[in-house]
Amino acid sequence: MSALWDLPDYDDHEVVHFVRDHASGLSAIIALHSTHLGPAAGGTRFWHYADKTNAVKDVLRLSRGMSYKNAMAGLPMGGGKAVILADEDRTKTPAMLAAFGDAVERLGGRYVTAEDVGISVADMQAVAERTSFVSGLPAEGDNAGGDPGPFTAFGIFLGIQAAAKFKLGRDSMDGVHVAIQGTGSVGGRLARLLAKDGAKLTLADIDADGANDLASELGAEIVSTDEIMQVECDVFSPNALGGVLDDASIAALRSPIVAGGANNQLARPEHGKLLAQREILYAPDYVINAGGIISVASEYFAKTENREVDVAEVRERIAEIPGRLVSIWEEAASSGRTSAEIADARAQELIGRG
Ligand code: NAD
Repeated sequence: MSALWDLPDYDDHEVVHFVRDHASGLSAIIALHSTHLGPAAGGTRFWHYADKTNAVKDVLRLSRGMSYKNAMAGLPMGGGKAVILADEDRTKTPAMLAAFGDAVERLGGRYVTAEDVGISVADMQAVAERTSFVSGLPAEGDNAGGDPGPFTAFGIFLGIQAAAKFKLGRDSMDGVHVAIQGTGSVGGRLARLLAKDGAKLTLADIDADGANDLASELGAEIVSTDEIMQVECDVFSPNALGGVLDDASIAALRSPIVAGGANNQLARPEHGKLLAQREILYAPDYVINAGGIISVASEYFAKTENREVDVAEVRERIAEIPGRLVSIWEEAASSGRTSAEIADARAQELIGRG
């Protein structure tokens, strides 16, 4: 592996911590890309990397992504991310989570963690036994917090409404056809919100049973996971994996809008240009999918200030997402740059790296 700072994903990280605890067997990396706007916030991923270099690349890319997402969401938070390196059997023990909590605590609040892939709410509660620099814990009563999925879905729903208005001149979602890739926590909730608003839906998920049940409940069509990106529709909404927008898939898209919650949708930065060349309106992923982190941040600050945060306040902040998208699309239309380039430039400016 080349030196850490030669990796393209390094991008001037403020600090990268490699954590090793022999007693528990914990190996983790905590990357802090920027604390310019506040404590670096971003979840912890528990993943088995056959090649450890990929763990480093993953944490760096995700950490920078959180800097951009938090800045664009108007949050007083920087960007960071942690990965816990799982063994092949994905052994996860209370001692490892405790040692991870101790490592977060030692950073003294420069990093605030939450759940990510492979880390459950119960795992985060175990981490929270050792450090208070944690968010994404179960909501109590009418408080925001806990699972960010519903808040992420709500922001994407509002973003899709804005895209349909901006690109298609549609004032309502009645009859607007949305093809949803991935009907998990985010995509499933998004489907329900869209169905309630009159949209026509086509769904696909590798969990065919789950997708079929949802389709019957909502009166939606089902297609295979191979077909979903070629459905002729008004909006293609990726809510499963990253990297789905590449040369081949963009050439095959039959939708004037791409707007969904998956992180890192563009396989490479230049795929933003390919979308623009095909006159497909693209909602930059970290702008439209910020609803969850807005909830997580509100929960965190309410806890540190010993007050309650209510759902209405979080929803108001999420309701700012469509305006942010429209402003990006307007600048793209007048400047000839892509929406992805404009979002990146604005985020870099906000974190003092413009
Ligand atoms: P999830 O695991 O609940 O759902 C993902 C769904 O995608 C699953 O149902 C899975 O079966 C399906 N899937 C996987 N591969 C697929 C394929 N090839 N084709 C179709 N479906 C496939 O995860 P989630 O929390 O809903 O997150 C979805 C995406 O949104 C991820 O990229 C995640 O990083 C991103 N995201 C989530 C949140 C959040 O609040 N949960 C916030 C921001 C971004």
